[in-house]
Amino acid sequence: MKLQFEWKLMGFFIFLLLLFLVTQGYLIYSFEKPFLFASLLSFPIVLFLAFLLLKIVTQPFRDLVDKLRRLTGGQVKKEGQVYSGDELTRLARGIGDLEINFRNRIEEITTEKDYLQTILKGMAEGVLVVNNRGHIIMINEALRKLFSLSMEVVDKTPLEIIRNVELEAAIRKTIRDRKSSSFELTLPTSLGKIFEVNVVGILPSLEGSRKTSKEMRGAVAVFHDIGRLKELEKIRQDFVANVSHELRTPLTTIKGYAETLLEGALKEEVAFQFVQVIKRQSDRLAKIVDDLLTLSKIEMKEFQLKMEPLSLPELVEDVLNFIQETAEKKKISISSEIPSPLMVKGDRDYLEQILINLIDNAIKYGREGGKITVSAIQKNQSEIEVSVQDNGIGIPREDLPRIFERFYRVDKGRSQEMGGTGLGLSIVKHLVQVHGGRTWAESQLGEGSTFYFTLPAYRK
Ligand code: ADP
Repeated sequence: MKLQFEWKLMGFFIFLLLLFLVTQGYLIYSFEKPFLFASLLSFPIVLFLAFLLLKIVTQPFRDLVDKLRRLTGGQVKKEGQVYSGDELTRLARGIGDLEINFRNRIEEITTEKDYLQTILKGMAEGVLVVNNRGHIIMINEALRKLFSLSMEVVDKTPLEIIRNVELEAAIRKTIRDRKSSSFELTLPTSLGKIFEVNVVGILPSLEGSRKTSKEMRGAVAVFHDIGRLKELEKIRQDFVANVSHELRTPLTTIKGYAETLLEGALKEEVAFQFVQVIKRQSDRLAKIVDDLLTLSKIEMKEFQLKMEPLSLPELVEDVLNFIQETAEKKKISISSEIPSPLMVKGDRDYLEQILINLIDNAIKYGREGGKITVSAIQKNQSEIEVSVQDNGIGIPREDLPRIFERFYRVDKGRSQEMGGTGLGLSIVKHLVQVHGGRTWAESQLGEGSTFYFTLPAYRK
């Protein structure tokens, strides 16, 4: 390109020189004019022709300057100001302006791209972008995690990476018909996760829309993981059903006995027994309501513990004194094996409740004349592990993972007979959790169970 223009210029000068010499020669030899006169006469002719030729040669420069002025759109130059100087200078200035414009645009685009990348990275929702052929342009980190994708996905179709026909169809429909859609997606491959997927089209650019039909430039699919939401909804529904059922049983009994009394049994001998049953069932009702209130209190955001340093041996001693009478009724002996300087950090009332619930269960599900041991060890600098062991009926292996759930009971009849609500272990689990600890149980059916929980150790 550079060479071509140089040749053009060179040709131009050679042509002028030749023209000058030819005109001069022609004047000297044809009209026999002196050399000086011939030179003076041929000079303006050559000058005029040179001017015309230069106009032709430099026309592309002028065109370029005009184009540049239009490209920079007066953004760089102040309004009304025009490029001055010869064509080359104006061209150089125009290119200079264009360069500044270009840099600014690139900076803007880079900043926009950075913002977008950060937003996409920070999103908990999975995002998938496809082009107008339905091929993937990009996906974000969240989508990779949600679907455990490790392979390269660019240029693949959504069907290839997330094996779902409905998703593929929704994306194609959005690109073709410009219609956004939303649907629920359940994938057996990703552990039964449920997603709500919203698909929206990317509008064609102005230029594109002039050229082509109503087709979109591509589509964006956003995946919200609603599995947890569904799970919570199910827990809530189950909980309401359980509570209603639990309250209904004692209520039905109370109602039945009260009606029998009213129908005449009041004057009979059995009346006293009936009233006793009513009393027992109302106690049960009150206990269920109390336990439910305790649970809801622990779960509230505002729930506060009065944390203080406590001597674990002293705390256990107090609880054992309180529960001794109940144990004696079943001739159960309770011993504690706790090294005396063991200090924990916790809320006295709630730690007592944890121990009472566990020891009470050990008595309830323990044998007549059995044995209970409360032990504690310092696990590490920050954790103390407490255990309550009994040699009672034990828990079947398949029930063990569920006993901390609300209202879960291995033997419902036995639990009710013992005055249980099915909420004791759930309360223990939550109280330990708010203290920053963990709860678990080990058991051998027919041989006994051990319940463990950890507490933060007190460090001076
Ligand atoms: P409940 O009021 O029924 O005792 P919990 O939440 O305290 O409710 O316990 C749930 C279930 O776990 C009990 O119904 C019982 O089947 C079982 N369980 C709890 N502690 C023991 C234990 N020490 N030995 C055997 N089974 C137990």
